[in-house]
Amino acid sequence: MKAEIVCIGTELLLGHVVDTNASFVARELAELGIDLFHKATVGDNLQRIQALLEQVWQQADLIILSGGLGPTQDDLTREAVALLLREELEFNEDAWQQIAGYFQKTNRTPVASNRRQAMFPRSGEVIPNPFGTAPGLLVNKAGRILIALPGVPYELKGLWGTFVKPYLLQQLEQQQKMVITSRMVKMAGIGESAMEEKVIDLINNQSNPTIAPYAGQNEVYLRITAKSESKAKNDELIAQTMQAIESRLAEYIFGYDTDNLETVIGRILKQRGWRLAVAESCTGGLLAHRITNIPGCSEYYVGGINSYSNELKIGLLGVPEATIDTYGAVSEETAKAMAEGIKQVTKAHVGVAITGIAGPDGGTPNKPVGLVFIAVSLPDYTRVEKRTFPFDRLGNKEAAAKTALTLLWQELCKV
Ligand code: ATP
Ligand code: MG
Repeated sequence: MKAEIVCIGTELLLGHVVDTNASFVARELAELGIDLFHKATVGDNLQRIQALLEQVWQQADLIILSGGLGPTQDDLTREAVALLLREELEFNEDAWQQIAGYFQKTNRTPVASNRRQAMFPRSGEVIPNPFGTAPGLLVNKAGRILIALPGVPYELKGLWGTFVKPYLLQQLEQQQKMVITSRMVKMAGIGESAMEEKVIDLINNQSNPTIAPYAGQNEVYLRITAKSESKAKNDELIAQTMQAIESRLAEYIFGYDTDNLETVIGRILKQRGWRLAVAESCTGGLLAHRITNIPGCSEYYVGGINSYSNELKIGLLGVPEATIDTYGAVSEETAKAMAEGIKQVTKAHVGVAITGIAGPDGGTPNKPVGLVFIAVSLPDYTRVEKRTFPFDRLGNKEAAAKTALTLLWQELCKV
């Protein structure tokens, strides 16, 4: 299957909006083993959209469109697809039911222009959109598949998961009589090249399943993808490779597939019946934000203090003034006192603290921008780590929060 992505929206051409939809769809297509030949972006102009679609229709078997499905006059995707198919737009009752249903669910009333969103070309099928008003549009005609999705990234991703991916998998299976299964192994506390080195022979010698490394910030992944006539066969192929990978990288693997450090940490804390609290200086609450992104975290997360000033470090966390005077607010000693302090103040079992210099100012030769101390205090001991990150202010904050999660996970695995 040869695919093309077409993103529609003048805001993309003007550079006001970064085209994250195309990169999301590109990654998803790669994962399905579908070759992407081109990506294109076009403004909200009917003639130009149509011209581009005519061209793409000749070249690709699968066309993914993003944007222009809204109710306003500059949302032209439906019109352009109708012109491409040489069909009229007709009022589609299915689409209208789905739009009306969404409005009802969100306690609002549709306006006249919403009826535009129910105008479909005759061979277009409705892709239900539980995430917003604009239903997606599917055309499967003349050996080609065209899928138009709303431009709002949250909606596009939502529809991809609920409809597009299962649909494409089914199409691929019909075409190739092949099933594709993939699993992701997730690691932290090791760099991409060090990780790759440990499994490079597997990566190079393996063709089914294939093994592909991915690097995230502070995390690295291996995706294992198997292709065969059945899911059971794939699972068997993957299990063998998985065993080889686990035997070499066990100490770094924190989870699989949809796991992330926050969810895994939550699971361990819940099992132990332990409570967690955090004290953050330079990260300004970013660590607390990540922890509280996990539904159900109230079972183990007590809360945190964003002790940015020395007064709060001393007054609320009980960091000795002498510690700050002697070693500085950004020091191993202060980080340790903050973690132990928050643990004590909140009566939690585990305290995590971060103090550092996010930049761009405030660095000195001894304590450069990016210097961060992270402390993890467990019931019996406290570990403190020093890191120097090379990023800008936001990047340093993010790296510090992610490293704190990694260290916390490592310590929780030890006890
Ligand atoms: P709506 O019903 O909201 O109008 P739509 O399908 O018409 O949906 P657009 O109007 O094209 O979508 O885009 C809606 C918003 O989604 C844009 O303002 C923009 O912020 C975002 N967006 C659109 N296309 C992309 C893209 N390719 N990547 C990232 N964001 C996008
Ligand atoms: Mg719109």
